[in-house]
Amino acid sequence: MYRIAVLPGDGIGPEVTAQATRVLAAAGRRFGYEFCFQEGLIGGIAYDATGQPLPQATLDLCRSSDAVLLGAVGGPKWDNLPVHLRPEAGALLPLRKALNVYANLRPAMVFPALAQASTLKPEVVEGLDIVVVRELTGGLYFGEKRREEIPGGQRVVETLVYTTQEIQRVARRAFELARKRKKKLTSVDKANVLESSRLWREVVTDMAREYPDVEVNHMLVDNCAMQLVRNPKQFDVLLTENLFGDILSDEAAQLTGSLGMLPSASLGDGVGLYEPVHGSAPDIAGRQLANPIAAVLSGALMLRHSFGLEEAAAAIERAVATVLEQGYRTADIMEPGKHQVTTTEMGRLIAELVERGELV
Ligand code: NAD
Repeated sequence: MYRIAVLPGDGIGPEVTAQATRVLAAAGRRFGYEFCFQEGLIGGIAYDATGQPLPQATLDLCRSSDAVLLGAVGGPKWDNLPVHLRPEAGALLPLRKALNVYANLRPAMVFPALAQASTLKPEVVEGLDIVVVRELTGGLYFGEKRREEIPGGQRVVETLVYTTQEIQRVARRAFELARKRKKKLTSVDKANVLESSRLWREVVTDMAREYPDVEVNHMLVDNCAMQLVRNPKQFDVLLTENLFGDILSDEAAQLTGSLGMLPSASLGDGVGLYEPVHGSAPDIAGRQLANPIAAVLSGALMLRHSFGLEEAAAAIERAVATVLEQGYRTADIMEPGKHQVTTTEMGRLIAELVERGELV
């Protein structure tokens, strides 16, 4: 039995996580696994109920589970709270820190049926399937910062710190992932300017000797940003540090055309955290307009990366592709001539296909 903590959160979070758990349960029935879902409070709804955006009970639940599925947090109702009580700063960042998830995986996959939805030409993105592996707990975002008064204005200092061990553990994740995919790893840095990037490159180069089956190349971040829009299909796994990864993963995500389709996994050495990339979308919450596919695909990543259930993960991904091929669309990806369905209908269609096993 696999214990899954489900944290629906705010806005569309509960709508999309309900469909993700429905699809996971269907995969369990089809392949003979038992998933036990236990819900916890997070975000604005948790603040309203307990005065804390990340209650201790939720942290305890997450730590005692095998994996965590998160919906989304935040909304205008809580925007004026002090920063440490706001859903994002007060819940998401502390949760990632508490679980020590240092590797963030963001797949960017273009389903054939949606190649037209990208802002790039269909032939540039059709069949795209890449993963950005971003270091999540080090670098410039976590370094010491200060601001000083100087004659004529101010001076700010931000520090960028990485240790060999921090680079090794995220690099190992990326090598292992590449080994299971097309065996191609591109490590992205700014080694012509930054000392931290030179250490990054040395560590990745050393580790490459342990993975002779993986083809490794190094690319400067400015070139990578350009290559991602010029010829993104040259990549398989992209490995990079925190700040570069923040920017490049959003750029890669946009190649796919819709926020409602993008899953993510944040992994450490313990419990993994899985969540759609999108936020709580207060503008469409409660109206059955949300696309649940990002949450459903986050569930597939959980099966693959936390539980090693590759067959069940792939069945979910194929079911999503099939439903799209059949012409079903939620409002955000609707095109003329297709059938518009609600959040719940989309979840049901995917779950039924997973359970019946009739896939393209
Ligand atoms: P958002 O991702 O919630 O929404 C951006 C736009 O995309 C909106 O028009 C929304 O309707 C649409 N959209 C998002 N997800 C969709 C889906 N699954 N299906 C269909 N359409 C979808 O970003 P935002 O509007 O900048 O932020 C709204 C709230 O979410 C804020 O409070 C923000 O702080 C929070 N937020 C939370 C997370 C998170 O929980 N991880 C991430 C980003 C933003």
